[in-house]
Amino acid sequence: MAVDCIFCKIAAGSVPAEILYQDEDLVSFRDINPQAPVHLLIVPRKHITNLNDLSEDDSYLVGKMAKVAQQLALSEGISELGYRLVVNCGDWGGQLVKHLHMHIIGGRKLDGRLG
Ligand code: AMP
Repeated sequence: MAVDCIFCKIAAGSVPAEILYQDEDLVSFRDINPQAPVHLLIVPRKHITNLNDLSEDDSYLVGKMAKVAQQLALSEGISELGYRLVVNCGDWGGQLVKHLHMHIIGGRKLDGRLG
């Protein structure tokens, strides 16, 4: 756990969040500032700053995050119409929280712009 990392604190249960899924590797919760009717985050429990810091040993986490996203999209009712998965990396990628996370965004038609 990294000191002063908000997502580490949520994963540890010391900061409240609406948790939707958790297992030994990952935690998912609703984004506090949703950009769409459904806006969830999936984070690894392990503090990894971003994709640049993902090691070979931890690379399975990203596949697992996508698989959990698939399940959450289904349970949130956004699978059929579609949704977007986003992983921001670094300042120019728009990453504000320096703990690897995947956004699941859906529940409205998203435009085609990516940045
Ligand atoms: P990013 O720009 O990819 O780093 O996105 C970080 C996301 O974390 C933003 O969408 C924030 O709204 C969200 N966020 C920040 N703090 C919290 C929190 N305490 N609980 C839930 N979501 C948060």
